[in-house]
Amino acid sequence: MSKLYFHYWAMWAGKSLELIKVAYNYSERWKSVLIFNSALDTRFKQWEVSSRSWSSMPSITFNELTDFFKTIEDLDLMPDCILIDESQFLTKNQVNDCWRIVTKLNIPVMCYGLRTDFLWNLFEWSKRLMELAQKIEEIKTICWCGCKATMNARISNWNMVIIWEQIEIWENDKYISLCLKHYSENNIWNSIT
Ligand SMILES: [Zn+2]
Repeated sequence: MSKLYFHYWAMWAGKSLELIKVAYNYSERWKSVLIFNSALDTRFKQWEVSSRSWSSMPSITFNELTDFFKTIEDLDLMPDCILIDESQFLTKNQVNDCWRIVTKLNIPVMCYGLRTDFLWNLFEWSKRLMELAQKIEEIKTICWCGCKATMNARISNWNMVIIWEQIEIWENDKYISLCLKHYSENNIWNSIT
């Protein structure tokens, strides 16, 4: 029986590399993997290592209108596994779609994305995935102090931002990972100098 997986991280914890590693493991065993990536993710070209690896893999761009179930159902050959990068851009219905793919088509779906935004609110998709996923795994990253980072901080003009749209175009220089202590203290200085 296939499963729905939720791999989440605070921020920039090397999840693209994790995803690529999984895809590589499947291909090594002659299994096919279908990768989705968000149309909102414009960081790609800036990520040298990840982008080079990623560019060698076939992927499908998704947006809020993408019908995941129908896309898979219409394929001539079913993939052995589906990987979804930047899953924080999924809608609740699309997460339900993933669940249908797992249960009706018996294909494992692994979602990689943020659990919370920089104000510590659950994304709609991650709340739904928390409810549906059979396997939930945190990809760890660390704060500048060396402690485990669990918070996303949005940075603008050298300060932490507290009011912003939840979904922005993600760029490396606008977000950092912090531990709870330094997030609470608004202490971002050492991580951006
Ligand atoms: Zn810290």
